Amino acid sequence: MPSEPHQQALTEPRSLVLIPPLAEEFSLYGGDDIVARARAWALDHQYLLADQVPACAHGLYLLSDCPRSSCRRFSQLDHARLWVPARAVGEREQPFLLSHPYSDRIEDETRTYAEAHGLGVGSFPEFGDDWYDSGTVPIRLTVPDDWPLWPIEAIAVILLDTQPVQWPRRLSPCGS
Ligand SMILES: [Zn+2]
Repeated sequence: MPSEPHQQALTEPRSLVLIPPLAEEFSLYGGDDIVARARAWALDHQYLLADQVPACAHGLYLLSDCPRSSCRRFSQLDHARLWVPARAVGEREQPFLLSHPYSDRIEDETRTYAEAHGLGVGSFPEFGDDWYDSGTVPIRLTVPDDWPLWPIEAIAVILLDTQPVQWPRRLSPCGS
């Protein structure tokens, strides 16, 4: 039986795969409750999970691997994944790396890492980014909005254009 459009991952032959929250392939580190919260958050914001690229700053540049695995030494890239907002270019929201390290703050080393890769850094529990919970702090490293088109955005635009995602109608605020 063919899947509904919103249940299929968007694939680009060479590298990037964008996974809608209702797709079977949507999986994360963490238990079912964490995945459920992440799924609700991604549905609410229309975020797609980026796969087949490294979950670090280099994935945003669409490198197929992290050079020398250099990002592994940053402890605050724990539970990190890349997310791509499914917005039209005109109402653009930038792709970002979201991590959930066991910490209560953004370390200076993480700020330096963001700056070195041209990314903005912040923590936005008010956007629901704190779905991992468990004593972690949500950290977003975001592609700058004054840049014409970051490598991951350029491919995402093509994927979303050729394989549009159909989003379910919004749930009521109480979730019932
Ligand atoms: Zn890297």
